[in-house]
Amino acid sequence: MKSINILEEISDGKLYDIEDTVKVDTCGCDGCNDCCCDVGELVVLTPFDVYEMVNHLGVGFYELLGSKIELRNNNKISLPYLKMQDDNKRCSFLNKEGRCIIHSKRPNICRLFPLGRVYKDDDFKYFLQVGNCPKKDLKDVKVDKWLGIENYDDNKQFILEWHKFIKALTFRLKFVRDEKELEEINKVILDNCYCIEVKEGENFYSVFSQILPKIKNRLGII
Ligand code: SF4
Ligand code: SF4
Repeated sequence: MKSINILEEISDGKLYDIEDTVKVDTCGCDGCNDCCCDVGELVVLTPFDVYEMVNHLGVGFYELLGSKIELRNNNKISLPYLKMQDDNKRCSFLNKEGRCIIHSKRPNICRLFPLGRVYKDDDFKYFLQVGNCPKKDLKDVKVDKWLGIENYDDNKQFILEWHKFIKALTFRLKFVRDEKELEEINKVILDNCYCIEVKEGENFYSVFSQILPKIKNRLGII
C-alpha cells in the first residue's frame, strides 16, 4: 500500500471533509508565492479550470495554450497544465508583483494548497500537506471557507465524473498503439471538453454533463 504510506509521510495523518476545520489559514500570504513556482507538473487543469480562466481573461483555450498553459502527456493522454516560465519557474499567471492575475478564478488545485485531494470509493477527501507552506502558525479555518468554491456540490460532482473519465480513458488508451489514433482521441478531448461554450440560462456543469456522455460514446468508454 505504497500510496497510503506516502500519504502518511506527507500529511498529518487525517482526512478532512468540506465541513471540517483544518489548520491552513495563512491569514494572507504577504507577497509569498512559493506555491506558484515550480508546480508545472502538479497542476493539471480540468475543463472547469480552463472554462473559468478563459472567460475571466476573455481569450480562447488555444490562445492560452503555449503562452500560459501547456500540454503534457501522461499515460498517452495530453492534458493542459500550468506553464512555468523563466529560470525561477514562476507560473505564467503571476504578474510582476508576484500576484496571480486569475486569483478569483484560479484552478481548483491552487485553491486547495496546502490541502491535497485523495480519491477513494467514488469519493474524495482532503489531506493536509504538512510543512509545504512556509508561513508559520497557520490558523484553523473550515475547509469550505478555505476553498471558496461556488456551487460546491456541482463542482464536486464534476470533479468526480472527470476523475472517473480520465481513469477509464487511461485504461482504454493502454490498447491503442497507433500514434495518429492517439492524436485524434486527444484532439477530441481538447476540442470538446476544454472549449466549452455556455449560453445564457445554462451553466458549465449542465453543459458539461451533456457533453461527457457523447464523448464517452464516441471514444467507446463505458
Ligand atoms: S506557500 Fe503558503 S504563504 Fe506562500 S503563497 Fe502558498 S499558501 Fe500562501
Ligand atoms: S494559477 Fe495563480 S494561484 Fe495557481 S499557481 Fe499560477 S499564479 Fe499561483
